[in-house]
Amino acid sequence: MTQAAEISKTKPNSSDSERTSPLADERHLMRVAVRPPRVMVRGSGSYLWDHTGQRYLDFLQGWAVNALGHAPPEIVDALQAQAATLLNASPQFHNAPQLELASALIEHTGLSQVHFANSGAEANEAALKLARKWGRLRRGGAHEVITTDGSFHGRTLALMAASGKPGWDALFPPNLPGFVKVPFGDVRAVEAQIGAQTVAVMVEPIQGEAGVVVPPDGYLTQLRALCDRENLLLIADEVQTGMGRTGTLFAHEQEHVLPDILTLGKGLGAGVPISAVLANARASCFEPGDQGGTYNGNPLMTAVAARVLSIVSRPTFLEQVRASGGYLQRRLAPLSAKHGFSMRGRGLLWALVLPEPRAERMVQSCFERGLLLNAPRPHLLRLMPSLRVSEPEIDEMAEILGQALDD
Ligand code: PMP
Repeated sequence: MTQAAEISKTKPNSSDSERTSPLADERHLMRVAVRPPRVMVRGSGSYLWDHTGQRYLDFLQGWAVNALGHAPPEIVDALQAQAATLLNASPQFHNAPQLELASALIEHTGLSQVHFANSGAEANEAALKLARKWGRLRRGGAHEVITTDGSFHGRTLALMAASGKPGWDALFPPNLPGFVKVPFGDVRAVEAQIGAQTVAVMVEPIQGEAGVVVPPDGYLTQLRALCDRENLLLIADEVQTGMGRTGTLFAHEQEHVLPDILTLGKGLGAGVPISAVLANARASCFEPGDQGGTYNGNPLMTAVAARVLSIVSRPTFLEQVRASGGYLQRRLAPLSAKHGFSMRGRGLLWALVLPEPRAERMVQSCFERGLLLNAPRPHLLRLMPSLRVSEPEIDEMAEILGQALDD
């Protein structure tokens, strides 16, 4: 008998039905999130099924991760083929999928070099290290990074300090120094904070976790000009907005500017853990020993990401994302008029701004009706479906959401 089975069998006061429920082991997990009493067991396209057989229309998709929906055949195929060929040769050696993915990303971004990691946070950590190293080499030891209020860059100690998520500064003190916060969307505020120690400006082109906050037109263009004038690096965190999510392969393309450093995650692996930090020739200054990790650039994940990139970068695919985004907006417009919420977003990343702080209740009510959404803030509902979501699926979402709002 396994240790887990033994523990479960000897658990005091547990009924037989509790022991046989897949939820019986819940108490063994650290409680970092409040989850409904369901176990998700299977997914296909826009749908997810739990252990009771209940089906959900998934407009969360792993928090904007499953760019191609659940269990996309191309990813299953890439995983199986690579798993049968080479899982991991260690970062000490080159592997073919990593080299292929690097070239494809360089070709699509116009940047010079890439380093792979496993999560958005890890890619952003690498971006900050790159900026600090560049500051040491090229800007007299400057190390401060200007970031924005409400931003979300990850959950490591450094990135919690970099992020502007309300309340985070009080969670795990002391906080890492070297970050200055300014209001999002305000170039003048960035300009006012630039000093001798400033090395970079780090922004999300659209703030995701803050509730799909779209900055004024020209924000990135003006930041680019400011960074050029002041000899600073511009870091774009496209962990959430990248890989087609906002209707172009990368959100920064919509302003026709290139950051010096770009980070990608989430959709890059379409469900498997891989992220990337890319840099232009000016900023790419890592040397052997500066950065690394056991799983960085492993062939299993890079093979998947190479397949994802080959799909989401197709002009017809991106055209479809924009068309679906437009359809979603049109289907939500009557609900917005009837229930008094406003909408903001691009492509297939949307937030509904409710007139009252009842987003959590709406999430629960939609969940009970078989629709998955999330509430990044008390007034905000966020929608981030598969980039392959169909019009009938959008209709179904609007139908369920409408019923929940009516109630
Ligand atoms: N940056 C942005 C913009 C994100 O939205 C997220 C995740 N929500 C992260 C970084 C962190 O990514 P991960 O959870 O993979 O570490």
